[in-house]
Amino acid sequence: MRRAKPPKHEPDNMAYWFIRHKDELLIDLDDAARRTKSGAPWIEVFFRRRLRDAIKAGKLNVREVWLVRSNSEHHFSAFVHLASPMPDLEALIWQLHLGSDLYRGRADLMRLARGIEAPSLLIFNRDPKIYRAPDFVCKCKEKHVTARNPDCAIWLKLRGYSPWELFGPSSQTVERCIALPLGKVPTKLIMEQAK
Ligand SMILES: [Zn+2]
Repeated sequence: MRRAKPPKHEPDNMAYWFIRHKDELLIDLDDAARRTKSGAPWIEVFFRRRLRDAIKAGKLNVREVWLVRSNSEHHFSAFVHLASPMPDLEALIWQLHLGSDLYRGRADLMRLARGIEAPSLLIFNRDPKIYRAPDFVCKCKEKHVTARNPDCAIWLKLRGYSPWELFGPSSQTVERCIALPLGKVPTKLIMEQAK
């Protein structure tokens, strides 16, 4: 018998949008194999083990778990399909606890705090074919950024907010280290910046 071909992961020139449903956790495992302090891969320490322990402790009632490839190599996403609905805030905290990307997680929390629709979602450049269909599909080939996809109706509806919109732009200059004193820290030291 011939071995089945491995599934193809090439983009198919569409974008598949998955908004967090009430009974889901959406985990974004950027560089899942990177080593943690203990030397074990991130996905093991912060996803599998934490998920196992939460299930064992009766803190999460999980129906099924799907691991799928994300858009770039070594990046994975996981869908944790829960047995019952979970409030948004609690779910976003669980997502972080289960190793989902911190920068994405902080933006998700801020979007929730500001009442922005669909605070947590994943976009794939191919259909991950999980237990449910995507919420939206669009024909954008490029990563969704306002400058590149100004006319995408889904993007306009569920627009991801750039970190700088949520938190302010971050400076790109090379910094020298400013030693901060203990006790009251003068604001002018905080504000110091390389020219
Ligand atoms: Zn689009």
